[in-house]
Amino acid sequence: MLALTTKLSALPRVGPIGAKLLHKLGLDTIQDLLFYLPFRYDDFRQHKKIANLQAGDQANIRGEILLIQNRRSFKRKMNVTEALVADDSETIKIIWFNQAFLTKNLKTGDKISLAGKVIEKQGQLLMISPQYEKIFNSDLTHTAGLVPIYHLTEGLSQKQLRYFIKQCLSLSQQIPEWLPNNIRQDLQLLPLSQALKQIHTPKNYEEIDQAQKRLAFSELFLRQLKSQIIKHSLKTQTAPLVKFQEDITRHFVASLPFQLTTDQKKSAWEILQNLEKKQPMSRLLEGDVGSGKTVVAALALLNVALNQQKAVLMAPTVILAQQHFNSLNKLFAKQKNIKLALLTGQKKDKTWEEANIIIGTQALIQKSVKFKNLALAIVDEQHRFGVKQRQSILDFNRQDKTVPHFLSMTATPIPRSLALAIYGDLDLSIIKELPPGRKKIITRVVKSSDRKKAYDFIRQQMTAGQQVFVICPLIEESDKLEVKSAKTEYEYLSQEIFPEFKLGLLHGKMKAADKEKVMTEFTNGRLDLLVSTSVIEVGIDVPKATVMAIEGAERFGLAQLHQFRGRVGRGDKQSYCLLFTAKEEIVSEKTITRLQALEKYHDGLSLAKIDLKLRGAGDIYGQVQSGFNEFQLANLFDYALIKKSNEAADYLIKNDPDLKKEPLLQEKLGAWEKEIHLE
Ligand code: ADP
Ligand code: MG
Repeated sequence: MLALTTKLSALPRVGPIGAKLLHKLGLDTIQDLLFYLPFRYDDFRQHKKIANLQAGDQANIRGEILLIQNRRSFKRKMNVTEALVADDSETIKIIWFNQAFLTKNLKTGDKISLAGKVIEKQGQLLMISPQYEKIFNSDLTHTAGLVPIYHLTEGLSQKQLRYFIKQCLSLSQQIPEWLPNNIRQDLQLLPLSQALKQIHTPKNYEEIDQAQKRLAFSELFLRQLKSQIIKHSLKTQTAPLVKFQEDITRHFVASLPFQLTTDQKKSAWEILQNLEKKQPMSRLLEGDVGSGKTVVAALALLNVALNQQKAVLMAPTVILAQQHFNSLNKLFAKQKNIKLALLTGQKKDKTWEEANIIIGTQALIQKSVKFKNLALAIVDEQHRFGVKQRQSILDFNRQDKTVPHFLSMTATPIPRSLALAIYGDLDLSIIKELPPGRKKIITRVVKSSDRKKAYDFIRQQMTAGQQVFVICPLIEESDKLEVKSAKTEYEYLSQEIFPEFKLGLLHGKMKAADKEKVMTEFTNGRLDLLVSTSVIEVGIDVPKATVMAIEGAERFGLAQLHQFRGRVGRGDKQSYCLLFTAKEEIVSEKTITRLQALEKYHDGLSLAKIDLKLRGAGDIYGQVQSGFNEFQLANLFDYALIKKSNEAADYLIKNDPDLKKEPLLQEKLGAWEKEIHLE
């Protein structure tokens, strides 16, 4: 008997090898498989007579194989399988390349269903490499109707995955409905089991929409619920009081090498006012890359230290923690009473116990430090602002029965209305304006024929003493996708292109100490060019870097590319961003147009919107590529749905703060928190 918790290896035709492949996708049980959602559909609903086909159709035909054979094409050095298929109206020629095994499966006389694009060649209609499926009964899975397409892993095919899912689809009825009935009915949302069934085997787009809406609502609602629970509980808690030290603060601001922008002042003011209250602060500081969030945080840290209290600043990576440590050390150089400590995997600063401000990664701080009356916790650039993390920060001072004030800083562009809805429990400060005098970063999508010119340009910049980033999407070479791996790129550039310069390599699989070493060398100007994977994405500040070159740019979302671009243009020199793509044959025009948005737009919010619109067209679940990975389906610009989820959660928690009346929901929320934490 199959159950939701049954291991996938128990399904027919999965076996140990299949189970291993599915595990790579994070799928171990039937329940996991049911929640593995397609990212788009092929529309094979047009079942046509062969006689009615026209060139350009995306069509589905059914017929009988009259003839099928392999032949060798010497010109093209490949195997060609040719078949002639007839229905009662006409015959058509079908061609597949390099799939010689087909003639083992498909024989003359077989009834077959084919789906794919019809083209015209020398006056004759053809189907090239269509999807195929033998017809045994009328139940077609791969070549008729709306056919779901899933993300795969090597060795696993769409056909296999669809087959596995179809076998256990009926079990979706056993998935408990945890959404309270009244909410579901008020908002006219499908039951969960129905939504899952429809998303895997939809009859039409309306069914997909309904299913998607229900599943998207689930994601938003759980997040909202958690936010509301935190908000509710914070009302009864107190935080250490941090008195605003006005004179020293003003003096400190006056001594900065620049003037604060109005938005920086306003944000700092909002934060400092919160800190003076017993009510714990919960604030999000949002500002585009380079808008100057660090100095705002520094003002809060300064006041905590002046009050003889403690604060932590948590960064997503060791490199960033190191950088914050360095820049705060500089900023606070004249403040004799402030002691900073850095916690990284290698160095555990022995004096951290005496420090007022402790800087490190979230995990390290949590692991190594026991706090007493921690006054302020700041989290920087936390794209995946985890609920679990929020909870653990609330628990920092548990023994003193207080909670620290909390500030999260992010460059993720979301409008105020949405931020309030998504981070239901957080107040918001936004830095809209960039510091004056910032030059726009000149951005170009580089044609492959212009690559040499681009390298010449990079050489010029390095000769003039500037530094260069080269970002590559993956570490291991994947020949199919033409993705340049960081390692090969590094070797190629240092041996063939820029042998006279000093190059460095940085990627996620390096040891932390090695990463730090390379980063320090680059920051200190001992390296001219740094080849890196996307580990560089957030926060790094290297003033002499003026060129950001990105390989395989088509593989990144605009928001992410914008983050990369934010790594340059930090000094006073004109900076540049060069976007390289795979060869033109492989990259569609649409993709190039998408990338060209970066040439025109220089703010994160416009780019996020464009990304959503362009990618949304072919990708129904187009989501903002900005790190809200917990939202698989929810569209963060669907304000109406977000607002509904916010209202529903708010109402529920006001009336039933502990979810006593909703045991299934309570259980689901627990499971969800665990899941988010595990990622
Ligand atoms: P982000 O918001 O991306 O974290 P940073 O805090 O790293 O930005 O600031 C980017 C750069 O701008 C830093 O070099 C910082 O010293 C500088 N900066 C910050 N505020 C101002 C300002 N008001 N005027 C000029 N430069 C500033
Ligand atoms: Mg920053």
